[in-house]
Amino acid sequence: MDLIFEKSRTGRTASDIPSVDVPSIPLEGLIDEELLRKDVDLPEVSELDLVRHFTELSRRNFGVDLGFYPLGSCTMKYNPKINEEAARLPGFTELHPYAPASFTQGNLELMYELRLMLCELFGMADFTLQPAAGAQGELTGIMICKKYFEKKGEKRTRILIPDAAHGTNPASGALCGFETVTIPSNGEGGVDIAALREAMTEAVAGLMLTNPNTLGFFEKNIGEVARIVHDRGGLLYCDGANANAFLGRTRPGDIGFDLIQLNLHKTFSTPHGCGGPGSGPVGVREDLARFLPVPRVIRDQDRYRFSEDYPDTIGRVKAFYGNFNVMVKAYTYLKLLGGEGLKRTSDMAVLNANYIKARLSPYYDLAYDRMCMHECVFSGSRQVRSHEVHTLDIAKRLLDYGFHPPTIYFPMIVPEAIMIEPTETESKETLDAFCEAMIAIAREAEENPAQVRGAPCTTPVRRLDEVLAARKPNVSWPGEK
Ligand SMILES: *Cc1c(COP(=O)(O)O)cnc(C)c1O
Repeated sequence: MDLIFEKSRTGRTASDIPSVDVPSIPLEGLIDEELLRKDVDLPEVSELDLVRHFTELSRRNFGVDLGFYPLGSCTMKYNPKINEEAARLPGFTELHPYAPASFTQGNLELMYELRLMLCELFGMADFTLQPAAGAQGELTGIMICKKYFEKKGEKRTRILIPDAAHGTNPASGALCGFETVTIPSNGEGGVDIAALREAMTEAVAGLMLTNPNTLGFFEKNIGEVARIVHDRGGLLYCDGANANAFLGRTRPGDIGFDLIQLNLHKTFSTPHGCGGPGSGPVGVREDLARFLPVPRVIRDQDRYRFSEDYPDTIGRVKAFYGNFNVMVKAYTYLKLLGGEGLKRTSDMAVLNANYIKARLSPYYDLAYDRMCMHECVFSGSRQVRSHEVHTLDIAKRLLDYGFHPPTIYFPMIVPEAIMIEPTETESKETLDAFCEAMIAIAREAEENPAQVRGAPCTTPVRRLDEVLAARKPNVSWPGEK
């Protein structure tokens, strides 16, 4: 497909700009010569060519409105269209962040109420909505841990992280100056209790635990894990990026977690990808609330306002107040579903994942054979051993069957990992169609492995050299080198 620059013909235009009705003056002399742009070299195309170009591009893309999107550990929720309507209300989109509180009561109320709903759902005393992503929420949470020990006058230099964790966990620990110590998984894909007990000394600030973890398992020994960490004065941190497996069924605050970061863009809808938009609220138990970032939304009788009056705060972590549009969508989603609806959402997520696990387990090796939560993890090892077909080949072949591939090669402790998370709103027919494609590919791997290795063959581009694209990106304009 041609670039829009290649479609350009001098003089063609897709818009009519009215002629100026004020006197025009030359810019020479007013602006530095070297700052004056002479040859702008923008594409010049007609309206038809313009619309066709971008429509064609959009048809070569894949999105949730086109098909099933079973990406694991990155929860691509059902995103009700009413979320978009709500987020586009002019009262939300056309407000200046510096507008005085008297103009913004509705917005402040929404943030205040969202915070209360999250406290109730997760069993936490308080939440900040400021961080703009899960990773930034983690960083905020670990900064709070650090400040907590500083205030207590304790010097703790290490933080424990299971080997199944998302890469952002050790990164957040390291950014706060902690030495990160890896805790291995046990034979069931949970925390190895003996290893935890040994590593959890008084030099350790705490454990960052993802629950359910990236293998899709709820930590069976959570009570024991919490006891070990707390007995040594540590904090139990929950990476709650994918909390869609237990909403309304259990609360991290009730089972021993002291603080948690959520990913509103995963658990509470908002399509995300390619870096945003996100929102990573951090919830804390009562005695940690004084460390939360400022400004915070507070309520004086029936009025809302921002307050910076928290002397022990870790400070501000984001310009203004966070990604407000994501908060609007999460708020809409929560109100839309209510308590019972959220419970059902989680139940369906777990049911769907277990259905896929059961249907595919005769054809692919399971990383661990036990009940899963919202996602199930297979290994492509059998296909590698018998037919030299790798997980990457299977993922690429799925494109030919019209499905977005699941997450692959993560978690890293599973060789040739295939991590499938079916959205809770998908119908049985869709799940079956996906399973049948996976089964057909397993059969192809046996009978015609070259076909799988050569996939995809129906997409606009075949296999890209992803390393080259990352290492030597070509961002030049056409005609330049
Ligand atoms: C997605 C994810 C993160 C990071 O969240 P971002 O919003 O991408 O920064 C952290 N932990 C887990 C388990 C995740 O799935």
